[in-house]
Amino acid sequence: MTQPFKNIVILGGGSAGWMTAAALSSLLNPKDVSITLVESDQIGTIGVGEATIPDIINFNRLLGIKEDEFMKATQATFKLGIEFVDWRRKGDSYIHPFGSHGVDMNGIDFHHYWLHSRAGGNAHPIGHYSMCAVAAADNRFALPDPNPQSVRSHIRYAYHFDATLYARFLRQYAELRGVRRVEGKVDEVVQAADTGYVTGLKLDKGDLVSGELFFDCTGFAALLLGKTLGVSYKDWSHWLPCDSAQAVACTHAGPLRPYTRSTARSSGWQWRIPTQHRTGNGHIYSGAFMSDDEAASILVQNLDGDMIGSPRKISFKAGHRDTFWSKNCIAIGLSAGFLEPLESTSIYLIQEGISRFIALYPDASIPSIVRDEYNRHMRTEFEQVRDFIILHYSATERDDSPFWNYCRTMNLPDSLCHKIELFREAGRAFRYEDELFAKASWIAVFLGQGVMPKSYDPIVRNLPYASVSESLELMRTAMINEAGRMPNHADFIQRYCGSASL
Ligand code: FAD
Repeated sequence: MTQPFKNIVILGGGSAGWMTAAALSSLLNPKDVSITLVESDQIGTIGVGEATIPDIINFNRLLGIKEDEFMKATQATFKLGIEFVDWRRKGDSYIHPFGSHGVDMNGIDFHHYWLHSRAGGNAHPIGHYSMCAVAAADNRFALPDPNPQSVRSHIRYAYHFDATLYARFLRQYAELRGVRRVEGKVDEVVQAADTGYVTGLKLDKGDLVSGELFFDCTGFAALLLGKTLGVSYKDWSHWLPCDSAQAVACTHAGPLRPYTRSTARSSGWQWRIPTQHRTGNGHIYSGAFMSDDEAASILVQNLDGDMIGSPRKISFKAGHRDTFWSKNCIAIGLSAGFLEPLESTSIYLIQEGISRFIALYPDASIPSIVRDEYNRHMRTEFEQVRDFIILHYSATERDDSPFWNYCRTMNLPDSLCHKIELFREAGRAFRYEDELFAKASWIAVFLGQGVMPKSYDPIVRNLPYASVSESLELMRTAMINEAGRMPNHADFIQRYCGSASL
């Protein structure tokens, strides 16, 4: 038997570093394994990252975190989905809700019934049959009903929060469970001469932090995987040409909305994310098609409330490290790769990196097959998320700018071409290999972006229009009535987890 790890070191104290520290400290006994986190206040964190997807609920539950306490500490609000404005064409909008549309019947996906009723003259968009979309449009929120017969059992949700406060909250959690925090800037990475394994981090003050396993949570710096081990970066900017963001917060104006808004602009898109204390905004754009000044000016002109501070530029490149785990170092967070926050997936990818590591937790010898399996899994995760994000750009009718002309006509990954063709030809969508985005998400974005199936399920096609329309109408009115009984989102937050600033 080889030895278990005795010293684990996490380098970086952003969301990635503290999520890793919190998860490991919840599982490992400090008497058996010491966990040290090194971070530098002088360097700081990226300071953005506000929208999440429902999987974060599982992460917090695994840690035994109480939802109301966490929400209060991070200024969180609820999120029922994302509204996409002007993506298919200017003036058009749709919601990609969490959860599904309608109810599948006789083992056949709901959207086939919707397509049939549409052929029979039904003008309601598919979003009118989603409990989350209906509640979101009315600014309502309630927790899901555990009774599966209830329409409210269809509620799925995530959070908008302040990622910096989330990292601070997890720091408290991890330190209480024995994680040692060391303040300092790493000036030199020490490696074993024979294997190249990292053995220690030399700090600016002269101390040495040694370990057997290292997590690289240094953000875009990628100090261990990139700079020290020289792992190359797979560049996807030909499919995702946006490489810059301008971010700024503003005061609230209007109701506290339980959804993220993403508005397409001439060379990218703008996010609006309401937390309890402010609204986060950012303009993601391609530097090849728009100048920084123009991007900042578009952002500032399109804020709901009064600007807090001034826009800050962040540069990035879509893609990921060719290997996520190399030698005894694992990249988690921005050091592992970056996909723009169009579907709020970065914090999820951090979570997935941590849980896959835990599922593979090896002895200190680190068998190479364990590393290979980790790398295979994370590569697939990144590729699947990539395809879903590209779909929003490529399935557009917009031809009003060089940026949209590029996106509409670019060559797509084969995996995405296959999904689009299958849906366009036969109205079919499937979830492959534990893929993050469920069938319902693909269908919401296909239909929202105007990818209309030429054909749909022949069994449904044979049903009388009237009976299908009647079933759909019952679902739609049940959802409207249920939403009407739900509290207003702001009132719910105030009672459940309101912070002083709400
Ligand atoms: P960072 O926050 O950059 O932390 C890096 C850490 O490493 C810091 O503590 C730093 O001090 C430390 N460090 C670096 N070098 C050294 C050194 N030499 N010595 C010591 N310490 C060092 N994600 C979402 O899920 N939803 C969103 O809505 C979302 N929006 C985003 C918008 C933009 C524009 C961007 C760029 C990202 C967004 N993200 C979003 C991603 C999210 O911000 C990150 O995934 C998340 O915050 C994790 O960052 P990190 O911890 O990897 O890096």
